[in-house]
Amino acid sequence: MPDFKRWLLNAAKFSNDLPQGEFTWSPAKHFLFKRCLRAWYFRHYLAQGGWDLHANDNSMQCYLEKYLTTFHAWIGNVLESAMASALSNIAGVRVEKEREEALIEEMQIHVSTSMITAEQQLSREEYLHDPKKLSFAELHYQTGEFSCVEELLSEAYRQFRLFFELFTDSHLPRLIVSIDPLSWHLPPEHKTFYYHEIPVSLRPWIFAVSRKKLIAFEFRSYPDPEDLTGFSNTEDNTESGLKEKTLATWTASRYREHTTEIHSIRFSGEGLFPRKIIPSQLNSSLVGKSAKEMLKKINHGRGVAIEQFPCTEKAEICLSCHFRGLCSKLGR
Ligand code: SF4
Repeated sequence: MPDFKRWLLNAAKFSNDLPQGEFTWSPAKHFLFKRCLRAWYFRHYLAQGGWDLHANDNSMQCYLEKYLTTFHAWIGNVLESAMASALSNIAGVRVEKEREEALIEEMQIHVSTSMITAEQQLSREEYLHDPKKLSFAELHYQTGEFSCVEELLSEAYRQFRLFFELFTDSHLPRLIVSIDPLSWHLPPEHKTFYYHEIPVSLRPWIFAVSRKKLIAFEFRSYPDPEDLTGFSNTEDNTESGLKEKTLATWTASRYREHTTEIHSIRFSGEGLFPRKIIPSQLNSSLVGKSAKEMLKKINHGRGVAIEQFPCTEKAEICLSCHFRGLCSKLGR
């Protein structure tokens, strides 16, 4: 559970350097740092404390934009939380065939509940008062992909229905229920571990530990099946698969002699493309260099201010940036 009070205190002493022990490295931070320094500053500094009604306007807007999601990210998140919820609800069902049916049914119940909640929160625009309520960048910025809430939800409904048709006919439900029910780690939670003395934060994964293996599952939705081509099963390119490599590195530190196997269930709205990934471990020089660059930006004795974080020069990155509202208000 994040320590909100500590964050608030840190936001209050904004002109100081980052206190010792506050920094963690993660693949998401690394990629955002490389994409745009200003977006990185918005997400990891300006947004902190923005939930407080007494925060300044820019900080509150930043906090709201930080929580915007996108249609495809949401589809993937709902499916992932549906699997976590289903596994916890069917823990007592021991017969494998019954477990398979119960898994699908419980996932569908979770998806239906998420659709109802989404409809309620979006139609009332609850996120404008509580940014943690569901909001979509496509609707907030009126990108034209969806003209209204109803259109977005109707497309979500179509995609979920297709997903379950394909998922039910695939090998995946059988694979999931074949794993010992007692070996699952649910619900997924954030973890931090040390890698070459650098604190690394691990995104939440759904995983089971069984028979000398850590088996993790993730769901990802893509707008276009073309996005799925060129994907490597081993992900041994230094920069690619960093998220997966972080999990493999944590596995090695936590469960010696266990291997990591990730089932990445990729869905494009036209097809299901499950991939099995056996990730290698993190590259220590990449993590060390990346963490050093970030710390240099924030721990230099002059405090942290927006002027030190220039905008990206690649305009195409701005088109999908969650902070494009605040960024254009502050001027590039
Ligand atoms: S809109 Fe562009 S320049 Fe501004 S924070 Fe986002 S990516 Fe960076």
